[in-house]
Amino acid sequence: MSRSTPPARVRVVQDAPLRPTGDFVLYWMIATRRTTSNFALDRAVEHAAALKKPIVVLEPLRAGYRWRSDRIDTTLVAGMSDNARRFAGEPVAYYPYVEPEAGAGQGLLAALAERACVVITDDFPCIFLPRMVRAAGEQLSVRLEAVDSNGIVPMRSTPDAFPTAYSFRRYLHRNLSPYLGEAPYARQRVAGVAPRIELPPAVVKRWPLASLESVPPRGATAAQQTLVDFLARLDRYGDDRNSPENDATSGLSSALHFGHISPHEIFHELADQEDWTPDDLADTVKGNRAGWWGMSESAEGFLDQLITWRELGYNMCVHRPDDYDRYESLPSWAQVTLEAHAGDEREFVYTLEQFDTAQTHDPIWNAAQTQLRREGRIHNYLRMLWGKKILEWTASPRDALAVMIELNNKYALDGRNPNSYSGIFWCLGRYDRAWGPERPIFGKIRYMSSDNTRRKYKLKSYLEAYSS
Ligand SMILES: Cc1cc2nc3c(=O)[nH]c(=O)nc-3n(C[C@H](O)[C@H](O)[C@H](O)COP(=O)(O)OP(=O)(O)OC[C@H]3O[C@@H](n4cnc5c(N)ncnc54)[C@H](O)[C@@H]3O)c2cc1C
Repeated sequence: MSRSTPPARVRVVQDAPLRPTGDFVLYWMIATRRTTSNFALDRAVEHAAALKKPIVVLEPLRAGYRWRSDRIDTTLVAGMSDNARRFAGEPVAYYPYVEPEAGAGQGLLAALAERACVVITDDFPCIFLPRMVRAAGEQLSVRLEAVDSNGIVPMRSTPDAFPTAYSFRRYLHRNLSPYLGEAPYARQRVAGVAPRIELPPAVVKRWPLASLESVPPRGATAAQQTLVDFLARLDRYGDDRNSPENDATSGLSSALHFGHISPHEIFHELADQEDWTPDDLADTVKGNRAGWWGMSESAEGFLDQLITWRELGYNMCVHRPDDYDRYESLPSWAQVTLEAHAGDEREFVYTLEQFDTAQTHDPIWNAAQTQLRREGRIHNYLRMLWGKKILEWTASPRDALAVMIELNNKYALDGRNPNSYSGIFWCLGRYDRAWGPERPIFGKIRYMSSDNTRRKYKLKSYLEAYSS
């Protein structure tokens, strides 16, 4: 039985009528880079089945975007290789395209769209993607729909940007449960579409398909294995998630960022493991972190990160597209207190270059930065400390913000995501409250110290592993 894509997930970018004389339905895959649990692909299938047309999936990788790195490109290309394998044998003409130099891919989307009945793309609310989709909508004459596969709750169904995790959690407790039953298809499903077509030869000649034969497929397959491994150690999450030396968290943030895994898939696998049914949900709404789901403590702690905190970031980007990444978006209490302490004397002030190359006086900070450069990740607890210290060791909070954004987005595999901005701005007071005692530089912003971290957690092997 087929079901239709929830309307709250579909945003019409170019409101042209469907073109039934077109040759195919085009899915321009730019964020939800997977073949299952993908509302945009489901939407493309829906159109193709109704129009009795085949599907073309164009998955491009641009060159020359800000913060591009070999690490990101390698991850994306390995994901394409996985998608190519998964689409093989399906009635889908998969078109992976890796732009050899900036600008070379210009015209490819338009050349395919010219022959399409409708173009479907992903609705991702952050970095250059919203601009790129808007520009495509202005240029194309065919209907263009952007589909939201980002979270359990359709991001545009929320009424406004929530100021705290607590207020968002309360909202979720009231509104989330109907969405749990509205998942995208978990298995590859292209039923009812016309047989696969050859990609237009003139287009392929000008914009050759990426050659993926020698690229080991990772992407969705690797992400699913990461999920399986995490679920096997889920019971450690509750106690150990903050400890840098215990590998207790899921490690799924980059797979989520690249769209290699879906939050629905993660949620449903977890719920199955917990033998959970919607009847287990608590009746009362208190906005508490634990006790609402009716699952184990570890599972509830994890879902609070995966759903409350993760979707809070998307909520901010979608409702404040013009300033989610700007200093002025900080709550006013935070701006006032940071301003009041802007002139405080700083014992250490480092340049971007010194931060980048892990040349501070603090071995814990340097180890975290070394891990970030080397592996593209930092453990969450140390990531908070990492950001707080940048605030302490830069000439102004605006400089701190710029350094955090630059290093996080340049090196972190999960960077350039709504949660990059949640985490970075959290260090400066977003989603937080005023804390006492008032301190130099920080004012009423929550303070963190390396000494405290050292007292709380074992760090010996971490420091050895990441000494620069
Ligand atoms: C300064 C700073 C920068 C950050 N930059 C990023 C970033 O670029 N990209 C990113 O995805 N997260 C970022 N975070 C949030 C958090 O550190 C990571 O999401 C988390 O460490 C990822 O590890 P995990 O997948 O093992 O998390 P788990 O604990 O297993 O959590 C599961 C999922 O929940 C989400 N999540 C977990 N913690 C948070 C959080 N605090 N805020 C929002 N979502 C969360 C992530 O999608 C994560 O994969 C940042 C935090 C800070 C303090």
